[in-house]
Amino acid sequence: MTEPSLLQPGLLLVLSAPSGAGKTTLAHRLLKEVPGGIFSISITTRRPRGKEQDGVDYHFVDVSTFQEKIDRGEFVEWAEVHGHFYGSPQSVVDEARARRGVAIFDIDVQGGQAIKRKHPDAVLVFVLPPSMEELERRLRDRKTDADETIRRRMLAARSEIERGIASYDYIVVNDDFERAYQDLRSVVVAERCRRGRVDLSMLKLEKPPAEPGR
Ligand code: 5GP
Repeated sequence: MTEPSLLQPGLLLVLSAPSGAGKTTLAHRLLKEVPGGIFSISITTRRPRGKEQDGVDYHFVDVSTFQEKIDRGEFVEWAEVHGHFYGSPQSVVDEARARRGVAIFDIDVQGGQAIKRKHPDAVLVFVLPPSMEELERRLRDRKTDADETIRRRMLAARSEIERGIASYDYIVVNDDFERAYQDLRSVVVAERCRRGRVDLSMLKLEKPPAEPGR
């Protein structure tokens, strides 16, 4: 169990899933509905794909800019994935702490584990597809990938799922989007009420009241 003494203000919420599990849609719905939500836009050295926009899907930078950011300590975590660098900004953590908000990180399992090592109060949620068959069907429905790509993605998905279910705090099964969203929302509500995370300053308990007659 997380010790209350390790808790700091704000909630760092990491969402991970194999591609095709519906995690990004869940993350965006949460962002819209949770007061004080901050979405972490990762920085990457890969090129934009399709309709991706700089500053919306990612901040796209070159390798030397990424390296400068590492040197300046601007990442809470960073990793190399498929030959490109990806990192989550430290500023999102600082903002969540300062505003007591919910920072949402839509990143992979190695990124989630790295954030948890630095911030043990971070909450890691893994989104599962209802079955491996359904995941494969969703990947095929995109009609963008060749068979070989789908086979590789399924292998990667299996390993991501194994690592996620072994190390994450919560599992949300996305069989029905609305129910999965309500499960995710319940995790956020419960975690915000955790002892140590609630702002109790309004109780003004620092100074004990003077005893009568003294
Ligand atoms: P894609 O290039 O398909 O958008 O993402 C490739 C992988 O990188 C995905 O598994 C995605 O979750 C992961 N990723 C995206 N942003 C970050 C990040 O900031 N840190 C880490 N560790 N992984 C990330």
